[in-house]
Amino acid sequence: MIDIKSMGMEEISALMEEWGEPSFRGGQIFSWLQRGVVDFEQMSNLPKPLRSRLSRECRLTGPEAVRRQESRLDGTIKYLWRLQDGECVESVLMRYRYGNTVCISSQAGCRMGCAFCASTLGGRVRNLTSGEMLDQVLFTGMDSGLHISNVVLMGIGEPLDNLDAVLGFLRLVNSPEGLNIGMRHISLSTCGLVAGIDKLGTYGLQLTLSVSLHAPDDETRNRLMPVNRKTGVQALMAACRRYYDATGRRISFEYAMIDGVNDSDRQADLLSGLLHETPGHVNLIPLNRVKESPFRPSRRTDVFRKRLEDQGITVTVRRRLGSDIDASCGQLRRREMREEV
Ligand code: SAH
Repeated sequence: MIDIKSMGMEEISALMEEWGEPSFRGGQIFSWLQRGVVDFEQMSNLPKPLRSRLSRECRLTGPEAVRRQESRLDGTIKYLWRLQDGECVESVLMRYRYGNTVCISSQAGCRMGCAFCASTLGGRVRNLTSGEMLDQVLFTGMDSGLHISNVVLMGIGEPLDNLDAVLGFLRLVNSPEGLNIGMRHISLSTCGLVAGIDKLGTYGLQLTLSVSLHAPDDETRNRLMPVNRKTGVQALMAACRRYYDATGRRISFEYAMIDGVNDSDRQADLLSGLLHETPGHVNLIPLNRVKESPFRPSRRTDVFRKRLEDQGITVTVRRRLGSDIDASCGQLRRREMREEV
């Protein structure tokens, strides 16, 4: 079956030509798909025989919302979607002053093994397709009735471990004939896969790259993030520097504050040293408690922040949204997939 939802307008037009259809059918189909239509029969401006052939040869399904939790505090909505094969992933809609942002997943599960993260506990089951990533944006918009202006790839999975599909998704969501979300309204978060950062850099995209650093020294980072055992902090920072040189975009370094693990004055000083060599800013994140993990949220966030700021580093502290709908990313999926087995 052809995965038409993952195809760009030109690719669909080329397919139409191959089928002996006029190429403008590509544009028509693409715009139906971008409106979240899940049945070719609804594509009313296509001739019937073409609709039948599309139904026979192309896969077209939308995700089913199996859970939807809305925060009474700030309107954050968390979705658990069931995909065609029964796998589940999460998306979160956050309402900021500058626009509505959807945080989407890039894989079902994750194989990076970060010690504080719920998404990785069951390993990686499979990559998502570009179309499945797009669907999370489309269906969140349709369900909520809200205009989506920003996308962050910060849900379940490691986007650079599924880079080709992620690049395809970026093209789709950026397409003027579709949602037309500009690269500057898109962020991609990685645990720090150096080869992936270098490859992404060659495209010169104007999206924001977030690097989940979480520790400035190898000893701590090795303990928190197995990916570091291969590469090390210095090599990661060198890749970040190359990325900045290639794209001109400052990097956002994510740092989840963990009690007694990465929140010392010494670590603040080391972190500030790293940031002096690589342009970027630090985003301090309050740790979300994960049942299976021994880590506790730090109580030193303010001191840590001030120490960085005193050394000239730009720091933001992430606001906790949707704290009443529990479930930091990965936990809903985990619960759902467990109940099924
Ligand atoms: N794999 C990518 C994107 C998904 S995780 C990455 O590692 O960046 C999105 C962000 O949430 C990352 O910064 C991740 O380190 C962070 N995160 C994971 N578990 C967390 C937790 N329990 N508390 C706070 N942040 C967490």
